[in-house]
Amino acid sequence: MTDVTRRTALAGAATIPALVLAGSPASGQSGATAAPAARQAPGFYRQKIGALEVVTLHDGFVNRPLDANFVRNAPFEAVQKALTDAFLPSPTLPIPFTQTLVVAGDRVTLIDTGTGGAFGPTAGFTPGHMSAAGYPPERVNTIVISHFHADHINGIRTREGALAFANAEILVPEAEWAFWMSDDNMNRMEGLRQAFQNIRRVFNGLGDRVKPYRWNSEVVTGVTALDGSGHTPGHTVYAVASENRSMLLLSDTTNHPALFVRNPDWSPVFDMDADKARASRRALLDRAAADRMQVVGYHFPFPATGFIARDGQGYQFVPQQWSPLG
Ligand SMILES: [Zn+2]
Repeated sequence: MTDVTRRTALAGAATIPALVLAGSPASGQSGATAAPAARQAPGFYRQKIGALEVVTLHDGFVNRPLDANFVRNAPFEAVQKALTDAFLPSPTLPIPFTQTLVVAGDRVTLIDTGTGGAFGPTAGFTPGHMSAAGYPPERVNTIVISHFHADHINGIRTREGALAFANAEILVPEAEWAFWMSDDNMNRMEGLRQAFQNIRRVFNGLGDRVKPYRWNSEVVTGVTALDGSGHTPGHTVYAVASENRSMLLLSDTTNHPALFVRNPDWSPVFDMDADKARASRRALLDRAAADRMQVVGYHFPFPATGFIARDGQGYQFVPQQWSPLG
């Protein structure tokens, strides 16, 4: 190819594929033979941690339009540059949602439940992905909730309001329950009224199916709950350990790693106590880096697992290499 034709081809490549990406039939075609809507293979990723099977599940993502308020303590230009550096779109960021199944023998535990179809058509896929992985929702014995933000609890119910996991008990962090179930707090914190009401919608009527748990206790076999507070008052992370293997489930210690693993001092708008959240984030990322621990992050790109490496003033998320063997 001559330089001139290569330049022409490259210039064309920058514009023409928009049509292809949009899935539009070329002009002049009827579209009657259009392919079915494009879908990936089901979003689950299976691994062995000692005697446990750990399966990350992809619920989908939501396109979050970002503005100067998204990171409270960094200039918006710096946020946009971090996204550009990570080859992510700006200023609308696709934020993914990842739940984790821990299977010990025939005991099936689901950690966080996803969006329950309440976040639009790009999310709500977890129940289907669980079935595809061989663990349909009715097989779940225990649900463990990290904190009460909607993208973590709404999946407890279907979009119609029915219980999505017919046979599961629901374990919740004691500190989270105490904070959000207080009507005094609800009345005091006008700006969070919607969150308080959503939590009541999800949990009301569940009775003793819901049980509080404490930090530094083994909530189910191999899964120890740890204080990760700051993001919310009861925000919890988990050490998963079996035989000589371990893994750290970071929950929402960071939102998207391209922003908040890279810049751990940045405070996303979601952190309720920014200073405490920053301290938790620093401590947990530092521990993961020092111990070379495998991590899972709820808002990490799927399969949402890998490692944390020190990098300058911050860290870098290094994805684990995909293995076709579970
Ligand atoms: Zn979240």
